[in-house]
Amino acid sequence: MYFRCGLNLLYKDLSRLTGRTTQTTWGSLSRSLVLSPQRRIPDFSNFVARTNTCGELRSSHLGQEVTLCGWIQYRRQNTFLVLRDFHGLVQVVIPQDESAASVKKILCEAPVESVVQVSGTVVSRPPGQDNPKMPTGEIEIKVKTAELLNSCKKLPFEIKDFVKKTEAVRLQYRYLDLRSFQMQYNLRLRSQMVMKMREYLCNLHGFVDVETPTLFKKTPGGAKEFVVPSREPGKFYSLPQSPQQFKQLLMVGGFDRYFQVARCFRDEGSRPDRQPEFTQIDIEMSFVDQTGIQSLIEGLLQYSWPRDKDPVIVPFPSVTFAEALSTYGTDKPDTRFEMKIVDISDVFRNTKIGFLQDVLSKPQGTIKAICVPEGAKYLKRKDIESIRKLASEQFNQEVLPVFLKANRNWNSSVAKSIMEEQRLRLITLLEIQDEDVVLLTAGENKKTCSLLGKLRLECADLLEARGVVLRDPALFSFLWVVDFPLFLPKEENPRELESAHHPFTAPHPNDIHLLYTAPEKVRSQHYDLVLNGNEIGGGSIRIHNAELQHYILATILKEDVKLLSHLLQALDYGAPPHGGIALGLDRLICLVTGAASIRDVIAFPKSSRGHDLMSNAPDYIPPEELKPYHIQVSRPTDAKAEKSSWNHPHCPES
Ligand code: ASP
Repeated sequence: MYFRCGLNLLYKDLSRLTGRTTQTTWGSLSRSLVLSPQRRIPDFSNFVARTNTCGELRSSHLGQEVTLCGWIQYRRQNTFLVLRDFHGLVQVVIPQDESAASVKKILCEAPVESVVQVSGTVVSRPPGQDNPKMPTGEIEIKVKTAELLNSCKKLPFEIKDFVKKTEAVRLQYRYLDLRSFQMQYNLRLRSQMVMKMREYLCNLHGFVDVETPTLFKKTPGGAKEFVVPSREPGKFYSLPQSPQQFKQLLMVGGFDRYFQVARCFRDEGSRPDRQPEFTQIDIEMSFVDQTGIQSLIEGLLQYSWPRDKDPVIVPFPSVTFAEALSTYGTDKPDTRFEMKIVDISDVFRNTKIGFLQDVLSKPQGTIKAICVPEGAKYLKRKDIESIRKLASEQFNQEVLPVFLKANRNWNSSVAKSIMEEQRLRLITLLEIQDEDVVLLTAGENKKTCSLLGKLRLECADLLEARGVVLRDPALFSFLWVVDFPLFLPKEENPRELESAHHPFTAPHPNDIHLLYTAPEKVRSQHYDLVLNGNEIGGGSIRIHNAELQHYILATILKEDVKLLSHLLQALDYGAPPHGGIALGLDRLICLVTGAASIRDVIAFPKSSRGHDLMSNAPDYIPPEELKPYHIQVSRPTDAKAEKSSWNHPHCPES
């Protein structure tokens, strides 16, 4: 998908955006940046020195006197120069006659990527010299005057999307990387989607955009927070993981429809494709239930969805947390393809196969399988071996390949012990076709599901690497996951509970009684939104009863309630029933643009190790500057510090 957002398409997008061209046959992406018809077409050239953008010029502009400002993309034999701005490329003819010697000198001597301003006439290219690959390929600019606005030194890399560069170099020189059409496209699309979201929420549905503080205090639960020293000895602010408490307090304050494009901060260490600071579309409403929030979000995505993509179909399907785990082995299933997990325990109830008997005799023992379509045709023996290795290394579990219709001599020995009647039942249950392979495993229920969930994705990757189209790249498959448990056992101490979402989530009304007897069985009013196997949003109906909130915090979660006394107090002063959600904007835009990483949709992202490779943040602060904060740091030795400080921009991290 990503490659489809190439240069040409972007020129088309933006040309179309100006509405000054007659072309109507542009590719699908061209529609994505078009604003709705009732809105004014933006004028890219008022208030500034240029009359037009480079990328917008067409035959319809023939004869017009134009002034363009842009970067020199390249020069050919001192006769042509290609000028670039965000909008596209245009060919400029360098005058050769004596009278224009000074213009020629400027345009021939300015290094590539210098910024120039040229004025001249839009003319047709000579017959046979049209460039159909270039949206401006029918015309060129006959220059009369030129001015060098700023010269460019030798660059660390060429500003051409097809020139490969490491991500570390791109991040180090982000301001240059941003000149690429790809980054221009990604960030402009992001801006447009956010604009449409604001329009939908504020103008169409009466939401109020409220900014909440960035300096806050440490709060219980959830992710680790970044701390900010204060001048009061030993006192720190925390950067909020999300505006969760504030948005609930806004409900108490009577702002019953709140939204914010909110920056959130989580100090989760280095995790691939996560950012220590990221953006949420944060929403809260009073007097709402789960279906109200879901409809709002479906409408929001439908309204803001780029028009070049297939329209968003609503309502989104929904599965319970329990179904998601048992069918897909994960709470964020990729529903673009089938390969569902099937419980085949019943087929083997009276089996003679020893290890299957063993598993079934245990309390949570199950036998499950996935059917890999055309696996016998496309998967190689070494693929099956790598699948089995993954299962044994990561899950300590056996996986057996079973070919029930196809004939392969690397069939597992179990296949030979399967009786005809069992074979027929399996073929029906798993809907096995001729060239399919079944991956069968037996073990504890949850672990077996997680393993097969992982293998499902692994097999999808393997099949796609062999050319099978399993996940349509144009398909956006949204899914609600609902009925999460309110609490999950803590990983480090499974006898203690933690919130599955956050401690403010309300229990499912039918399960409230269980809070006092079997809290681990309580379902919650928490919902997640999943897109193509990625969690892109999550929210819940909140607890608005102070007593219940206190009980959950103090008795079940064993949190220090004093830290949340402000919230508990607020709930007691007439808090309305309320609920909300937050969409992860970076991840959403990443999926919409088909970008390889969320870093490609953020202007100035951190590396996966949380560093800013451009400015080298985080960095040391001299001890005297730390004094007002009453902080003393034992630094690594100066030599080491210097090394790490200077090495970061060049290290191959990203
Ligand atoms: N604050 C929550 C989060 O960041 C979202 C919500 O419950 O509205 O996940």
